[in-house]
Amino acid sequence: MKYMINEIEIIINNKVLEDLNKLFEFCQRFETGGILLGKFSRKKKIIEVDEIHEIKATNSSCVTYRRNVDMAQKIIDKRWKETNGLLNYVGEWHTHPKMTALPSQADIFSLIDIISKTETILPGTIMIIVGNNGELTITVGNRETIQSYLFANIK
Ligand SMILES: [Zn+2]
Repeated sequence: MKYMINEIEIIINNKVLEDLNKLFEFCQRFETGGILLGKFSRKKKIIEVDEIHEIKATNSSCVTYRRNVDMAQKIIDKRWKETNGLLNYVGEWHTHPKMTALPSQADIFSLIDIISKTETILPGTIMIIVGNNGELTITVGNRETIQSYLFANIK
């Protein structure tokens, strides 16, 4: 899939979507989530999402997911080394088992916080949310704006 979101070309490979659906089906009781790894060009304003990694939450409920930051950094470093610097951190993903895939206010605050740490590196930071009823949102933010796209019936 290829989309223009927030003036950035976002490419998401099919394996990523399959993995997201699998993880959503597998964990219906609690929110789960993790990080997105891929390639990007700041100059061309392109981000390609190639891999997702699930990261066990330090605490999780039906409405909140807080990922383990140390674990995330370990995976980012490991994949960066294994791919000779090809795969980098490009964003976050999580599930909303009992809600719409639209980002909550807490999600937006969390994204703003991540943008403040990644804006000098990434052309934009991605947040993918898988919600109930086959919904999925791709949110892309930078210092200026945050834009979300909602996809229905992704299955
Ligand atoms: Zn959320």
